[in-house]
Amino acid sequence: MAGPFIRKNDMVFVRTGKDKGKTGKVLTVDAASRRAIVEGVAMVKHFIRPDRSKNVQGGVMEKESKVPLSRLMLYCPECAQGVRARAMKLEDGTRARACAKCGTVFETGK
Ligand SMILES: [Zn+2]
Repeated sequence: MAGPFIRKNDMVFVRTGKDKGKTGKVLTVDAASRRAIVEGVAMVKHFIRPDRSKNVQGGVMEKESKVPLSRLMLYCPECAQGVRARAMKLEDGTRARACAKCGTVFETGK
């Protein structure tokens, strides 16, 4: 399968946009829209109205918004940068992804 290879719980690097250079953990991937929610990336402010009947205080809440997968790369801790991944098979036959530069395997279990 072609494409950016990004999955939930991956550490990713933001290539372009407002948050260029940031890294974060992928919280969800929406395959249909090819977007992901990344922890601490693409934060948007939500203004919440105080509502006494629901005991809501109101104020500003920051929340992640979706980032197109095309803006993300896998982050390799060895290379300390965003890298391309290549597909590989582990000794037990499991498919995995590895850093195309240094060979670090990104699969860290379930
Ligand atoms: Zn690497």
